[in-house]
Amino acid sequence: MLFFQYRSYMLEIKVSSWQYDAMCRQHSSNLFFPPATFEKKEDREKREAKAKAVCNGCPVRIECLDEAKEIAEPFGIWGGLNEVERKRNLVFSD
Ligand code: SF4
Repeated sequence: MLFFQYRSYMLEIKVSSWQYDAMCRQHSSNLFFPPATFEKKEDREKREAKAKAVCNGCPVRIECLDEAKEIAEPFGIWGGLNEVERKRNLVFSD
């Protein structure tokens, strides 16, 4: 947990310890999550390929993927998989 003060409030944020070793901390989140506006298929494929390349060298890939599955994260690249691949992975692992 991280605690920080915002105005007169003390806020608490859950941060898993593995996240401190995440390779994506050195990159923009725009690489791992789609934009709020429309993204062309070829742009998405290029963005996701770059994100997955980062994940391939990440020492906490398994922990990241496990957390994405646990919280049913609906967006983005987690553990080297996009949301469709994670859902497919869940279906075939049952
Ligand atoms: S596996 Fe990818 S998304 Fe997950 S922590 Fe590592 S770099 Fe970030």
